Amino acid sequence: MEILGILVCLSFIILGSTALRLIKPNTTSEMIAWQEFASSHQLQFMARADDPDHAIITGTLQDCFFFLKSAQEETGTLYTFISMRGHHFNFDETNRDYLRVFAQCGEMLRVKGILEADSDGKRVSYKESGIITDSEYLVSVVNTLSSLVKICPNIVDLGGEAIPELHQIAIRAKILQKVIDELLVGISKNSKQRWSANVLKLWCPHCLAHYDQRWVNQPPLKRVNYFGCRKCGQSRHSFEFEGKMVVVLDDETSIEQSQQDGELRVNWQQRRSLFDFDEIEIIRATDEDVERFAMQVGNDTDKVQKSRYGEMRCVVLANSQLSENSMRVLKRVFSKLEIREPQSNSGHLSSNEPANKSL
Ligand SMILES: [Zn+2]
Repeated sequence: MEILGILVCLSFIILGSTALRLIKPNTTSEMIAWQEFASSHQLQFMARADDPDHAIITGTLQDCFFFLKSAQEETGTLYTFISMRGHHFNFDETNRDYLRVFAQCGEMLRVKGILEADSDGKRVSYKESGIITDSEYLVSVVNTLSSLVKICPNIVDLGGEAIPELHQIAIRAKILQKVIDELLVGISKNSKQRWSANVLKLWCPHCLAHYDQRWVNQPPLKRVNYFGCRKCGQSRHSFEFEGKMVVVLDDETSIEQSQQDGELRVNWQQRRSLFDFDEIEIIRATDEDVERFAMQVGNDTDKVQKSRYGEMRCVVLANSQLSENSMRVLKRVFSKLEIREPQSNSGHLSSNEPANKSL
């Protein structure tokens, strides 16, 4: 029995070493392919003297730092690893093509390995089992990495506004899933570095809505949180404001915003959309406008503002000439309705005190 056991063990060892040999590459032809790739792209090829299966290629390729190596998993399987790190990044806010080109990279790439990125997007890598020797295939992988590493940092810079499109891309191009997850981590980190110290004072200049902590909760995306506009989700632009936000109906002025006495006063007739206001002031408006405004508020689906309307103060100037019906409509939406006599400073929006926007 003992002899039989030893024989079984020996056969396993022999089979094991055969299996290990079988998955080793044909060193000569494969490393020659890499040497040719390195020399045709002016890169440096280095192989370990004691193990020619382990080689690296380094250098500058397509304006990026290029690194390629062969290495061995613990299981003994050889793999090819390629990484590219970008040198120059010029974020252009007017360029809306970053996400389109990013999606194209993922949709056109036909590979079976794993694409990954650093969270700042400045380094992108690819890993595939076995030694890649098909030079055409290798070049296509390298070209994709080169494009990605130039685009990914810009997507991180785009911030929260990139997230809805990244969600769609993650569904269409699964190869980009891990890259997208890391870019989301980058967007989260960036927003926290920029905004966490004073997030409660921040407003989105587009929506005039508060900044807030937002969760990305859209499978298959990684679940992360970041600071951005609670309405549109963008996290690039904000302005600081701590006072009262007043929505003003005043058809005698064309000024949209003014800041006075700690209030940011926004003319609804110029803006025509709702925002995070704390109080309503009707100086002069037609009955049609008041009803349209009240209807917008009544139909507002924004849960945060909706829960506040019932408690909001709505001031109507006594000389606003609103009909009884308009007053009834306002009373229905805002229970705290006040009639105020006009003062010398009638509350009109003033052009010499513009809103202090800091983008
Ligand atoms: Zn917004």
